[in-house]
Amino acid sequence: MATNTEQSNPALTTLSEDEALFRDSVYEFADREIRPLVREMDEHAKIPRPLVDKLFELGVMGIEVPEAYGGGGARFFHAVLAVEALSRVDPSIGVLVDVQNTLVVNALLRWGSDDVKRRYLPRLASGTIGAYALSEAGSGSDAFALATRAAERDGEWRLTGRKLWITNGNEADLFIVFANVNPEAGYRGITAFLVERGFDGFTVGKKEDKLGIRASSTCELILEECRVPRANVLGEVGKGYKTAIETLNEGRIGIGAQMIGLAQGALDHTIGYTRERRQFGKPIAEFQAVQHQIARAATELEAARLMVYNAARLRDNGQPFVAEAAMCKIFSSEVAERVTSLAINLFGGYGFVKDYPVEKLWRDSKIGQIYEGTSNLQLQTIAKHILG
Ligand SMILES: Cc1cc2nc3c(=O)[nH]c(=O)nc-3n(C[C@H](O)[C@H](O)[C@H](O)COP(=O)(O)OP(=O)(O)OC[C@H]3O[C@@H](n4cnc5c(N)ncnc54)[C@H](O)[C@@H]3O)c2cc1C
Repeated sequence: MATNTEQSNPALTTLSEDEALFRDSVYEFADREIRPLVREMDEHAKIPRPLVDKLFELGVMGIEVPEAYGGGGARFFHAVLAVEALSRVDPSIGVLVDVQNTLVVNALLRWGSDDVKRRYLPRLASGTIGAYALSEAGSGSDAFALATRAAERDGEWRLTGRKLWITNGNEADLFIVFANVNPEAGYRGITAFLVERGFDGFTVGKKEDKLGIRASSTCELILEECRVPRANVLGEVGKGYKTAIETLNEGRIGIGAQMIGLAQGALDHTIGYTRERRQFGKPIAEFQAVQHQIARAATELEAARLMVYNAARLRDNGQPFVAEAAMCKIFSSEVAERVTSLAINLFGGYGFVKDYPVEKLWRDSKIGQIYEGTSNLQLQTIAKHILG
């Protein structure tokens, strides 16, 4: 039994000195470099390349890439902290960094051969943006029904099909593309390929005009007999389904981080505004009804953050985390929607116009319940863990 003098386990939200320094430096960067651009990026639905270059300089594009390959050599939890800190200012930048780290770099670290790691990790850490292409027009939740095909010819692979909804599609130079090499084998034919933007037969198609996270590009990819070298198979042929499931299980924690960052951003704005805005002769923050609404939002956000941090720490410690990841995503995305909606209410009419920042965060919050598995699919995962 623990005695009073023994050190107990730290709280989930207690950060090591290194984690706290990292998180603070990312937030300071976001406040200084991203905040002035948020409205313009939302309006023009574009992230300026100089800002992307600064993200690389900051070291948030290759957080888990080993130092030997020019990366940060840090842990998954650091990626979660970075996505949270960035999303507090702009969830579009949050998801750019999230896809790069929790899906693309993560998949290469886990499934890449030494050759793949040597060729691509230094690039991903220093200037190349990655994208993760699983979804298609006909296969979203039922991702393994994908229709993109890969056939071997003349010692290389030829990929044919169309991908839809691909985050970072506009900016990325490297795409993890899932295609089926043997449709008769069903999901056991799915294989992950590393496709460079310049490969023959590859084009980026239409960019979607979206409700939220507008600055983050979401694009169609067109593969017409796209030529991919044999050495660019990621993992084993026919094991792409495993790569997809396992990276998305982890990626979901990143979306949880995006949602708690976004909700914190909305809460920050709301606290500031309600202290300034006066009605009936006093700041509206002095009305108990307003205080209670803010207190409830802060409570829900604290619970969501604990779930996100717990899932990330379980993952880093090699413990089972799949149900916790699904729970943190569904809960934090719902909290984000509620907190941003409350923010609009407490801003009153000013919450409904674009001169103030909260309507955007509410629009941005909706995506958390859709991508990397809709809320219904998260519930399915959780139910399977509980009910077998
Ligand atoms: C902005 C954005 C960015 C994205 N980025 C990427 C990306 O980078 N890479 C990528 O591969 N994909 C990406 N996606 C795709 C995203 O993952 C899918 O949109 C998502 O998985 C849902 O698929 P769907 O849109 O086809 O909806 P559907 O699967 O058609 O679902 C429609 C509705 O039916 C429900 N439903 C479906 N099946 C079931 C079931 N069995 N039980 C109960 N309910 C069910 C869903 O919950 C949902 O409410 C992105 C999407 C968006 C909008």
